[in-house]
Amino acid sequence: MMGWWQRHSPVLAQSRSGWKFPAIGALLFAGLVLPAWLQAKLTSLGQPPPWTQLEQFQNTITAEQFLKLLDEIYAPGNSYSPWIRVENHQARIRLKAEREGEGFILKFASSSQSTLTPPRYWRLLEALPPGENGKPLAGLRIALDPGHIGGPYGSMEQRSFYYEGGAPIQEGDMTLKVALHLEQRLVSMGAKVWLTRSEAVPATKETVESLMPAAYKKLTGNKEGRGNTNIQLQPRKIRSLSELLFYRVSEIRARADRINQQFQPDLVLALHFNASSWINGEKSNYSRENHFHILVNGAYSREELSYDDVRFEMLVKLLSGTAQAEIAVGEALIPTMAAANGLPPFIYHTPNAAKVGVSPYLWARNLLANRLYQCPVIYLEPYVLNNREVAQRVRAGDYEGWREVAGVRRRSLVKEYADGVIEGLLDYYGRQ
Ligand SMILES: [Zn+2]
Repeated sequence: MMGWWQRHSPVLAQSRSGWKFPAIGALLFAGLVLPAWLQAKLTSLGQPPPWTQLEQFQNTITAEQFLKLLDEIYAPGNSYSPWIRVENHQARIRLKAEREGEGFILKFASSSQSTLTPPRYWRLLEALPPGENGKPLAGLRIALDPGHIGGPYGSMEQRSFYYEGGAPIQEGDMTLKVALHLEQRLVSMGAKVWLTRSEAVPATKETVESLMPAAYKKLTGNKEGRGNTNIQLQPRKIRSLSELLFYRVSEIRARADRINQQFQPDLVLALHFNASSWINGEKSNYSRENHFHILVNGAYSREELSYDDVRFEMLVKLLSGTAQAEIAVGEALIPTMAAANGLPPFIYHTPNAAKVGVSPYLWARNLLANRLYQCPVIYLEPYVLNNREVAQRVRAGDYEGWREVAGVRRRSLVKEYADGVIEGLLDYYGRQ
């Protein structure tokens, strides 16, 4: 996913509680709608959070550890303060943004010696079985998430671009090539590997058509999907929101279900390529930029945390201890990937990202994928696909060994990407 694309969309972020028309009294009387303060404030296609699940995290963290994770990774600049009140022995978490109330009480452990182990389906490095001879990753469970859908969806996803005389270059096609190559190598090293998709086919069962009513409701603020005639909507507008809900929201939610319910891996590698803003479907200028960074989950804004589902999902990530694992694996992959690709770090100048860890390549951001996947997620963003040299390397295709492309002797782009990942995983998990 690209930095420029991840800005908060006001339409997608719209509250479900935007009732404005005078018939509200009658609708209330008829029991058709709930007043705003009773409704959960949810992101697109989100469900009211199962707050009682947080009971499992009682006494699993100290107040100091909790505050440190909020301040340094998840909610820098006190962005949590309207929603989470940290007291001496407990935190008070607002259940509904629209309504002050008792809140969920999370009890802290009194010392780091007395913390209970939080529930989680993934395992810490020290809990993994030892590697076997010739199978250094034996027992490691890893899911590869090739970013985007690609194929016929590349253009809708705005992850496709054309230059004269060449086939389109699509991010979703490139991430799949890297995933398939990585899968082969990881399996040969003994790892158990899943892919969230193994072809240019969506994981979600929804379609642009089936999401039209949801898009309509979102645009009108009308929970019933009918009625509000004050709003004149162009079909084009509904369709384009429906497309966004399909490839950017429903697709990620479906992948999250696979990861959290079926695969339950120790680690997810979300495979992406970066791009500096390209013009979809048009003859574009090449970018001079080329860089690399890795994302972990974090840097939630005050506005994002006002969504009840987002607040809940952040707490699940924080309390299950994914941050420490994400930073450790991220910092293991950075030296080997940067050595392979030779790229400088990308530097964010926007408030949606926070610098974490010690490496200049490592940043925290709140993305739907790294928030919903409840295990450690490493989000890789090497190469700017619309950089001239990178585009030439894409066109050169995958090949064995070394070849001169764009004036430099190198491995293929796919193998170079994978080499850096494999070396880093061996440094972190490789147990002989
Ligand atoms: Zn991407």
